[in-house]
Amino acid sequence: MSEQNPFAIAQHQLDEAAEIMGLDRATHELLRWPRRELHVSLPVRMDDGGVEVFKGYRVQYNNALGPTKGGIRFHPEETINTVRALAAWMTWKTAVVGLPLGGGKGGVVCNPTELSETELERLSRAYMREIAGFIGEDVDVPAPDVATSPRVMSWMLDEYETMVGRHAPGVITGKPLPLGGSAGRGTATGLGVVVTIREALKRLEVDSEGTTASIQGFGNVAQSAADNYIDMLGGTVLCVSCWDSNDRKAYTYEKDDGIDPGFLASVTDAYGTIDKDAAMEAGYKVLDGDAWLAMDVDVLIPAAIENVITRETAPRISPQVKILAEGANGPTTPEADDLLHENGVYVIPDFVCNAGGVTVSYFEQAQNAYNYYWELDEVHRRMDTKMTAAFDAVHETTQRHGVKNRMGAYIVAVARVAEACKLRGWV
Ligand code: GLU
Repeated sequence: MSEQNPFAIAQHQLDEAAEIMGLDRATHELLRWPRRELHVSLPVRMDDGGVEVFKGYRVQYNNALGPTKGGIRFHPEETINTVRALAAWMTWKTAVVGLPLGGGKGGVVCNPTELSETELERLSRAYMREIAGFIGEDVDVPAPDVATSPRVMSWMLDEYETMVGRHAPGVITGKPLPLGGSAGRGTATGLGVVVTIREALKRLEVDSEGTTASIQGFGNVAQSAADNYIDMLGGTVLCVSCWDSNDRKAYTYEKDDGIDPGFLASVTDAYGTIDKDAAMEAGYKVLDGDAWLAMDVDVLIPAAIENVITRETAPRISPQVKILAEGANGPTTPEADDLLHENGVYVIPDFVCNAGGVTVSYFEQAQNAYNYYWELDEVHRRMDTKMTAAFDAVHETTQRHGVKNRMGAYIVAVARVAEACKLRGWV
């Protein structure tokens, strides 16, 4: 199994869980593969008058529990195997939270930092035109992900509604509020990450006040995780690491008494690039991009991209680290996962840790369906309840089977999806 192929990793994780659970052969085989996938080529008129052709994908992994659900990524190294893996993880994510949804994912191979606003709009609309016949409120519902924002969701929604000739806000989530978005959706993933850290610290009997964290990324998930780590848990975030789109390198921004996420956000662009000079002027130390991983902290929060904690990088993690909270999808390879387990690190697996986003997406769909919108505290209360219940179920299952946390999470999720497949008579 290549460490580079996320879908091989996703299949390997399922195989391991299937073995522990004694899953029957047909169900196992069904759950190893996407049920449907669409490959598209998108001709887009560029600002200079020329045409570029972009490749895109939409994968509907499993819809036994409900319409497939999952974000769309704009990424220069997107591949069908990455999208398949992410769609599989969405299937386990919606199931572990107990949402009546399946799992899917979309991706477009592009570098959004090199596109103008108008090119980005034409690309977003072109992608929606191609996938419109494949998705729908009751079929498959996209959302934002890496490098796609509520702005991108607005263009896609508008394109879809123009095509079908009616309002259909439930076809896509993560929309801005005036177009039928939900209060709290923008910050939901990061908040959910911190809810799961709160629960893990309780299990480890560690008082959250006075704990420290190190974060990889400074996009949507990382920013809200940093805010909530400080405000909700009373902890300190020592550093964040992020990609610099100007010199194409990552840097870690550290402050001994803790970073100020509000300040850093004020000097960060839409793609999570921090203005280095402004940070240095404000007293931040600028370190190597991977320095975040080796910090002496209690909690590590990878909240950027897949495949960062590997056999090679995991040994650099400080013995002080108690919790690895996977804000990103697929940050840890199976070899690294085993190593962390052996070293007694409490891993909060990605599809549990970062499920707050899709949970509020589900609330957004519910609000769209009856065209009545909830207050922010209602959204937070309901999200906290669902995330805490998911955490409890995973923790309890992990203990009962004496397995890694990730396997505990798989057992909960796969059992729910497998039961729905059986009830439908598929297996
Ligand atoms: N892209 C997010 C995720 O990976 C959210 C998906 C959604 O809201 O549908 O969970």
